[in-house]
Amino acid sequence: MAIFGSGVHPKDCKSLSSGVPIGRMADPQKVWVPLSQHIGKPAIPVVSAGERVLRGQLIAKKAEGISANIYSPIAGTVQGVVGHITASGKKRDHILIENDFTDEGIDLPVREEWTQEQLLARIEEAGIVGMGGAGFPTAIKFDVKGKADVLVVNGAECEPYITCDDRIMIEYGSELMQGVRYCMQACGAKYAVIGIEKNKPEAISAITALAGKGIRVCRLRTRYPQGAEKQLVYGCTGRVIPEGKLPVEAGVVVANVHTVLSVYRAVALGKPCYERVMTVSGKGVREPANLWVKNGTPLREIAKLCGADEGSARIVCGGPMMGEAVFSLKVCTAKTTSSLLFLDATECEEKSASACIGCGKCVQACPMGLSPTFIEEALFRKDYAEAKRYGASACIGCGCCSYVCPAKRFLTQSVRLAKKIIAERKV
Ligand code: SF4
Ligand code: SF4
Repeated sequence: MAIFGSGVHPKDCKSLSSGVPIGRMADPQKVWVPLSQHIGKPAIPVVSAGERVLRGQLIAKKAEGISANIYSPIAGTVQGVVGHITASGKKRDHILIENDFTDEGIDLPVREEWTQEQLLARIEEAGIVGMGGAGFPTAIKFDVKGKADVLVVNGAECEPYITCDDRIMIEYGSELMQGVRYCMQACGAKYAVIGIEKNKPEAISAITALAGKGIRVCRLRTRYPQGAEKQLVYGCTGRVIPEGKLPVEAGVVVANVHTVLSVYRAVALGKPCYERVMTVSGKGVREPANLWVKNGTPLREIAKLCGADEGSARIVCGGPMMGEAVFSLKVCTAKTTSSLLFLDATECEEKSASACIGCGKCVQACPMGLSPTFIEEALFRKDYAEAKRYGASACIGCGCCSYVCPAKRFLTQSVRLAKKIIAERKV
């Protein structure tokens, strides 16, 4: 695998929101809380229509296997389980709750001392998942049975525009450090390395000043996708994750900054995961922001608050490289919604693909050392075994190949599709 001599350096556009302190959005009249805000099976509702719920009350229980608990973000009355559109454009079950604006809440019980088992149980109970966007249940990721000695905290935030992790590191440094200690204990790590790209000097000084015994800050070069797991682990520890394996095979557990903050909130404050900080940005936004937003908030409410142009050329949930274009502002936020971008025509060129000119730029840019152009050709020929031989299964969907292609080919989509078909058909 190419260890990151590649990647790209897109314009980061972070200055739109990086200086804006984290605010809090007023709770909406109604929330549509998705039952699937994580990788794995949807959670199972434990409330029914007409029932009153409190903020912080369990409303859907994790299913057997990989899944996560879901909590009510507001106090109010459950209207029922309804089909509602998601960022992927598909309708999925959500719990609809009407706010009574009492903000009556309940917290999970907290204790002074925690054992490793108790911490893992709390992380699972609180419904914490990877909040950088992956959504994998954190308790399962942390339960490595002594196989990891290092926790790598992902503060790279390498996607353009997004600044919520940067602001968390600046404004919640002490809470984050306590969260790092809880996470180290939960996964059994002896050391922690917090990886931060050099373009976040304020966060680097804030976190370096707080880093105690066994915790260090690693200044990473600013290059996309520095925050991808393999690249991050190599940059922070020099360890290489074997191809097709998880970080634990290199003795490492990786957690995103917001995930670590959520662990702190669940353990020290008894707050389950029902809200998050997200960035609202792009030239189509009058007032870019970093905001605490309740899960299940309709994107339209956020757009209104920040003066966003609903007719923007492109609206994206997540970053412009790996995020999803959103076609309806009825879509609601989830645990993994790190940002909402309103991009004007100058920020997203309309693509019209032409034939490959064989320049090889996509191959040079791929941080995983793949040959996107050959994978695409194999996909078009339906030769999935060939696509597999070119390494399609190792694609991390970073978007670098599409970004550099002068023929504007939709390489990322092609490689992702090839990867999906290979997995589904067990090629
Ligand atoms: S999207 Fe996949 S194929 Fe394209 S550069 Fe990223 S890892 Fe390589
Ligand atoms: S970057 Fe585009 S044009 Fe160049 S080899 Fe790759 S697919 Fe072909």
